[in-house]
Amino acid sequence: MTRLFAGTPFDKPPTCGTCGQLEGTCTCPPAVTVPTWAEPRTQTVKLFEEKRKGNRFVTIVRGLSPETTDFAALLTTLKNTCGAGGSIEEHDLVIQGQQLVRLTDTLRQSGYRIAGGKAKGGPTSGTGR
Ligand SMILES: [Zn+2]
Repeated sequence: MTRLFAGTPFDKPPTCGTCGQLEGTCTCPPAVTVPTWAEPRTQTVKLFEEKRKGNRFVTIVRGLSPETTDFAALLTTLKNTCGAGGSIEEHDLVIQGQQLVRLTDTLRQSGYRIAGGKAKGGPTSGTGR
């Protein structure tokens, strides 16, 4: 690619690196810093179920950072896997219902390391009671 002003000995106005136009006439959107997601296997997640008001359970995925993990994409995956609703709360991914076993399996298959991973002293998933 030849630059428009390449070789001009003087008056070399700044040009856009994307479209090659002068910066004044360029209409490209400003450069966005694309976050780089970390490899799942470098991250450890902790899962647990929590009772919310109204006797409703949610399963919480904790330990990930929105700076290194695509929370929105992961949430979509987890919601689809469980067929349940979910949301992002602070740095947690919250899935409706008791999905501990399913989420542990899903995240493990995605390569995440699971801390603990057992429902301790609480209700267990999939017992149907
Ligand atoms: Zn441009």
